[in-house]
Amino acid sequence: MQLLSLSASDYSPTDYAALVELIRYHNRLYYDLDSPEIPDEVYDKLLRRLIDVETLHPAWRRDDSPTMRIGGTVAMELESVRHPVPLLSLTDVFSQEELAAALERIRGLVRESGNTPPDEEPDFCVEEKIDGLSVLLTYENGRFVMGATRGDGEIGENVTANLRTVAGIPARLETADPPERVIVRGEVYMAKADFAALNADREAEGQSLFANPRNAAAGSLRLLDASVTARRKLSFLAFQLENAADFGIATHAEALAELREWGLTVLPVSSPVASTAEVLAATEAIEEHRHDLPYQIDGAVVKLNNLARRVELGRTAKTPRWAVAVKFPAEEAETVVNDIIVQIGRTGRVAPLAILEPVRLAGSVISRVTLHNAAWLAEKDVRIGDYVYIYKAGDVIPAVDRVVLSKRSETSRPFVMPENCPSCAATLVVSEDGRDTRCVNPACPAQLLRHITHFAGRTAMDIAGLGEANAAQLIEAGLLRNVADIYTLAEHEADLAGLPQWGELSSRNLLNAIEASKQRGPAALLTGLGIEHVGSVAARRLINHFGSLTALQSASEADFAAVRDIGAITARSLSTWLERPESRELLRRLEELGVETRADSIMAEQRALQGQKFVLTGTLPNWTREEASAAIEAAGGEVTSAVSRQTDYLVAGEKAGGKLRRAQELNVKIISEAELRELLA
Ligand SMILES: [Zn+2]
Repeated sequence: MQLLSLSASDYSPTDYAALVELIRYHNRLYYDLDSPEIPDEVYDKLLRRLIDVETLHPAWRRDDSPTMRIGGTVAMELESVRHPVPLLSLTDVFSQEELAAALERIRGLVRESGNTPPDEEPDFCVEEKIDGLSVLLTYENGRFVMGATRGDGEIGENVTANLRTVAGIPARLETADPPERVIVRGEVYMAKADFAALNADREAEGQSLFANPRNAAAGSLRLLDASVTARRKLSFLAFQLENAADFGIATHAEALAELREWGLTVLPVSSPVASTAEVLAATEAIEEHRHDLPYQIDGAVVKLNNLARRVELGRTAKTPRWAVAVKFPAEEAETVVNDIIVQIGRTGRVAPLAILEPVRLAGSVISRVTLHNAAWLAEKDVRIGDYVYIYKAGDVIPAVDRVVLSKRSETSRPFVMPENCPSCAATLVVSEDGRDTRCVNPACPAQLLRHITHFAGRTAMDIAGLGEANAAQLIEAGLLRNVADIYTLAEHEADLAGLPQWGELSSRNLLNAIEASKQRGPAALLTGLGIEHVGSVAARRLINHFGSLTALQSASEADFAAVRDIGAITARSLSTWLERPESRELLRRLEELGVETRADSIMAEQRALQGQKFVLTGTLPNWTREEASAAIEAAGGEVTSAVSRQTDYLVAGEKAGGKLRRAQELNVKIISEAELRELLA
């Protein structure tokens, strides 16, 4: 990036041309190929430098300069559509000073327009700027008829079929008297949790990873096969009613309320504020809580609330004059790689792991980061002793961005993957492309430890006292050779109590917890078996459908794939696992040892929350959402993602947002985690 080290006044016409080409190149990667090579922050700097140079030398400006267009061309495979209204981009500011100046500029324009009394200050709405994909939806007579990507702002791609599969976009507006036409702008995004799950699946399948949720959302929305899009779990939040004037709506806040009434999911918006101090405070509050949100944001948007004033202010060639985007800095941290070790997963996958000098990043302390596989490690050339920049992919998964080569010392050492399993010494099996290394020894103690702790985990059989340290001790003592052995521990109570640091009380407690786990039910058991791609959600769906593990064993791969929301990969993985003789033997033993494998033995009517609908929001004090969902569903309740009139309870934790307001509007009963636990008791 030598072009960035030149100040704008030092640019020659040749430098200018090179900068134009560079930005055009990155535009193509970003908009057309969904695979950016540089962080957004660097891109923003390049673009600002270009604007500065063109301001100094207006005569140099080329017709194909990236500043002359909104960015992005149209991929040929999807049908092109002309937007009913142009999709403008926003002017970006990067500091509080720039934001204050932008607000002053907008106030000046409002005063010049002469329609506001001199003592009346215009008010602004402040919203989160989701890092997703902007789309325009058109409803005619209440029906969703057209959805398009932004494209170049004038012409986008028709992705109507794909958008029909996205949560939060109703096929029909919820109104008895639908308006002739509704044009809505919003953002399609992939939630952080869905992004993490998608990349984990892709990694397990040996596919390339998405760099961030926006690329994952863009790549998923523009697929030609809508059924694949449907499995990618995209979400939508509306942020603008483009034809609000048709409904006589006066303000942005009212327009969003109307969209919510019609059943669209809408971006949370704070009450309008007028003073610069209040606007700054609102953007700061968004920045402070950015890591608590379920989706990734890269800034805040400040918009004039009064829609008539917006029309008067109008637009420049590519941006409206009545709004401004505040960009937050991307968060990364520099630290040292103290060591590189390998970790062995439940399925025998061996992956290099960097042990870092602990460093604070985006709200948590990071001390380990996966280096994925031998091929990835070789490409990035991360060595022991190196300084590296780390970031959180999708705000959740710590990842190494780059090595600081200028700080590499003479003593830094490349890491070589071992040829033998560090746990059992079996020869490791490496795939041809170097992206997959596995220990295939079924008796490998490291894999067994992962299996046992997963089986005993809170989303599975929930056996307190069988965490990593205790499980390792029991494996070491020869008391556990597979998960079924957990249920024979009662026969070895004396051995247990005699282990170092155990004693009668802890062994008694563990045995009681193990006994209780026999009644967790087949969904928890299926989750605990740790079959690749069969997590707790898939396990519950499968058991709801088949009723017992016995029924599951007589079903085929096609039967599994026919279950709603069970994909082909999951179906194949499950049927392959069930076909193995050792799997059948394991299930037979578990049943023989008294572990419940049938769902129908737990009477449906007796379940505490039978038929009740729950929505979860905010951060709960003790439970993760996954754990709370598992508890609710185990008691016969149902967990849905959006609050509606059918919702019975909203379980609200700290920092609850839009769902809480929606629940209050609809008079849905709002309870805490403690109250939920009482319902479950
Ligand atoms: Zn091994």
